Amino acid sequence: MITLTIDERALQVGPGTTVLQAAQAAGIEIPNLCHHPELRPNGGCRLCIVEVEGRPSPLPSCGLLCDEGMVVSTQSERLQEMRREIIDLLLSDHPLRCVTCDKSGDCDLQRFAYDLGLSETSYDVEVSRTLYQDDNPMFVRDHQYCILCGKCVRVCDEIVGASAIEISGRGFTSRVSTPFDMPMADSTCVFCGNCVQVCPTAALMPRSRIGQGREWELTHKDTVCGYCGVGCRIDFALRDGAILYARGTPQAPVNGEFLCAKGRYGWDYAASAERLTRPLIRRDLAHQLGLIPQPWEMPATSVLDARLGEDCFVPVEWETALDVVANRLAQTVREHGPDSVAGLTSARCTNEDNYLFQKLMRASIGTNNIDHCARLCHSSTVSGLVNTFGSGAMTNAIREIRDADCILITGSNTAESHPVISYEVIRAVKRGATLIVIDPRRIPLARHATLFLQVTPGADIYVFLSMMNVILRNGWADAEFIAERTEGFEEFVTGVEDFRPQVAALASGVAAELIEKAAEMYALGRRHQGSSVYPEERGHSTILYAMGVTQRSIGTQVVMSLANLSMMCGQVGKPSTGVNPLRGQSNVQGACDLGGLPNYLPGYQLVTDETKRKDVAAAWGVQTLPAESGLTVVEMMHAAEAGNVRAMYVMGENPMLSDPNLTHVEHGLRTLDLLVVQDIFLSETAQLAHVVLPAASWLEKDGTKTNTERRVQQLRPILPSPGEAQPDWKIICSIGQRLDQALGVARAPEFWDFGSSAEVLDEARRVTPIYRGIRQARLGTQGLTWPCPTEDHPGTPILHTQTFSRGKGHFAPIEAQSPAELPDDDYPLILTTGRSLYHYHTGTMTRRSEALSWRDPRGHAEINTADAERIGIRDAGPVVIASRRGQVRTQARVGNRVPPGVVFLAFHWREAPANLLTQDFALDPQAKIPEFKICAVKLEAPKRGRG
Ligand code: SF4
Repeated sequence: MITLTIDERALQVGPGTTVLQAAQAAGIEIPNLCHHPELRPNGGCRLCIVEVEGRPSPLPSCGLLCDEGMVVSTQSERLQEMRREIIDLLLSDHPLRCVTCDKSGDCDLQRFAYDLGLSETSYDVEVSRTLYQDDNPMFVRDHQYCILCGKCVRVCDEIVGASAIEISGRGFTSRVSTPFDMPMADSTCVFCGNCVQVCPTAALMPRSRIGQGREWELTHKDTVCGYCGVGCRIDFALRDGAILYARGTPQAPVNGEFLCAKGRYGWDYAASAERLTRPLIRRDLAHQLGLIPQPWEMPATSVLDARLGEDCFVPVEWETALDVVANRLAQTVREHGPDSVAGLTSARCTNEDNYLFQKLMRASIGTNNIDHCARLCHSSTVSGLVNTFGSGAMTNAIREIRDADCILITGSNTAESHPVISYEVIRAVKRGATLIVIDPRRIPLARHATLFLQVTPGADIYVFLSMMNVILRNGWADAEFIAERTEGFEEFVTGVEDFRPQVAALASGVAAELIEKAAEMYALGRRHQGSSVYPEERGHSTILYAMGVTQRSIGTQVVMSLANLSMMCGQVGKPSTGVNPLRGQSNVQGACDLGGLPNYLPGYQLVTDETKRKDVAAAWGVQTLPAESGLTVVEMMHAAEAGNVRAMYVMGENPMLSDPNLTHVEHGLRTLDLLVVQDIFLSETAQLAHVVLPAASWLEKDGTKTNTERRVQQLRPILPSPGEAQPDWKIICSIGQRLDQALGVARAPEFWDFGSSAEVLDEARRVTPIYRGIRQARLGTQGLTWPCPTEDHPGTPILHTQTFSRGKGHFAPIEAQSPAELPDDDYPLILTTGRSLYHYHTGTMTRRSEALSWRDPRGHAEINTADAERIGIRDAGPVVIASRRGQVRTQARVGNRVPPGVVFLAFHWREAPANLLTQDFALDPQAKIPEFKICAVKLEAPKRGRG
């Protein structure tokens, strides 16, 4: 430790601490305008100058390292005079309109000027920068307020990695600009708004805040972002009950002050006029029930061709809708048995909603036919990591990524699907970590990669096996870890002997030398510069992966390969290591944890385990629970088509866009006797429903969600729900009470009687061992990571530190196989699907956000230049993509982001639904996940028509 004195206070700090950091930690304020704790010291504003005994001139404290015995003074009259002069100079080139400025009360320049007794400049000069750039709907740039602190430039480079802006010009013409002053939309800007967040003045302002009031007129409320699985906390500024803008806060445990475009600008969907505000019943059912006189028939045309409006439905009272749902479900159970009913719970809903939904399916209906979109994204993570580690979740915390020495990213377009996690990756790379990207697409992070292995779709498993082959032959394996912590190594190891890099190169298209380099970097945690924060000789390497790995017919095998790789190198159970599946939706982790799966009760207790089943049944006060695993999502649709499933209850899911082979999905849903959809909009699935129930959105809810790193966080309602929309958990309780009555089952009053979401979680944690210590009252702003077995347990950020969840880590033998549907003469290209930065899942919310839709209004397919030229497709021109299951027409984006022979299409677009093309016949045998990532397609340039 270093001992120094600041303003006559003796302080002790660690090596590498700056004087500014030491002062701030001790509560001593040193004014500064260009410093940000997450950015490298800049020293540009000079406001943070301090005097140090023995030094002739004041020094900027932001870049001054503490030294033993240093004596520092921060507030002398000399310093204050110099600071006054600095502020005076800044004000001389700044409009003095604090009275009318929208940033008034929230502006650092104004605050420090007032603190130093300055309300105007002593200089008599004109403001030199007068440019006002109003080129996007998210924020405005008013250069006359800019003090050239450079924070926006540095956050864009050091945190986001977009490098969209720089300081250009000289002297009085200096300004922050895009290259050639092009519009933001034409630059590499990703519209995350983090530059706006760190701007100390009114130079960058959220557009929605302009002219809407000063900071002191606003109230603030925070909740957890409802989009991806990162789980950022967002602070919303409100005026008269309406959201004005969103921001991050330093206290947020995952994201701190930083957000992505969806979190910062994607909240206006909640006020859309298209929100569902009353329960609806389809006209033919309403006629059948005598609610309306005229008969009506569901149009036979596909909902994807013609959106069916609310006029296909009749609004009804809640009582009527709930009675219809309960009576129809009861009738189905009586006539066809409990397994003729199936339910989709939701990764967008809270833990409490999911817990009650599976309770309804299991206890009241009596079926395990419950699943959700986790089946379609990370079910192979659960099976693969349970087989090897014993727990199917992210092993380490998101914040540890910044300290990793080597990061291996595969099958994850992190910068677009989990942007705030990519900020951690950028931080690590800027500090000297190596980055290995293994992906078929040249994803944005490939630009920052030390090694980019552009692999043939479906052939990554050969690269991983070959990396292990190289590691073993070079003696880079961690023999001690393997001997002490694992089992099955000897049997496994023979399976990698054949996978020399030259062999893998032929299968994967990745050069053998790249495979060898990647193996060494990962195994030994090699950095490209700087020193590790960890003391061991072997650096710390972490693996991040997502659906490029899991949405495969061999997803479980690929996940197990990654787990084997990490165990072989001892890169698990320590900080900044591990195997980290990045979960897609905001609560996909929680929906799985709380039992939204056909084979697991809450807490991953197998439904086939009689003891566990009896424990849960006893806690609920029911005689028995169903003992057979239920149907998965894809199996449900097949069973609906076959007439074996007769009724479905879908909460917050949209299988009519998200499931594979949509033609079959639509046929299955149309075949049902009863389809109940509970949602916030009349989604493509809701348009096929018999009954539609209006639910509250994530901005209107309380309860909890569990992010991808297993952190359970508290949601708080920001807005009131529109019309008669209700929180999902309340709707489920109302249906449960009525359904039990309709089935003639007597229950204890408390079975469906909860006064709050906190009471629901209290019941849930009693039957969920990994959540047992988690109460809403304990969560605060930081949340808790499971496992959290007791009420005084602090949570578990890193798994498998001493032993694996299953005891010893298991080296699972790997069977490498090719994808189920490969290109042939008829369909010569591979289609791979995924997400775009500005949209989320099936676009229900983001496509109703004005800002996000402006940035990415319609679908497009990425096509390699060579393929486009050969087929005659031009950039931004139309293209038809056809597979054996259907065809879609969209816009082409021609370039080299995908290699020749590969086409990419995001699955958000109802007018170009990627899942009309994907296949549902090849499922991973263990996880039952379909192979979304690979199917064979052909491209056509549509003939020009007259119209
Ligand atoms: Fe929301 Fe994910 Fe963006 Fe964070 S990274 S703001 S959780 S969408």
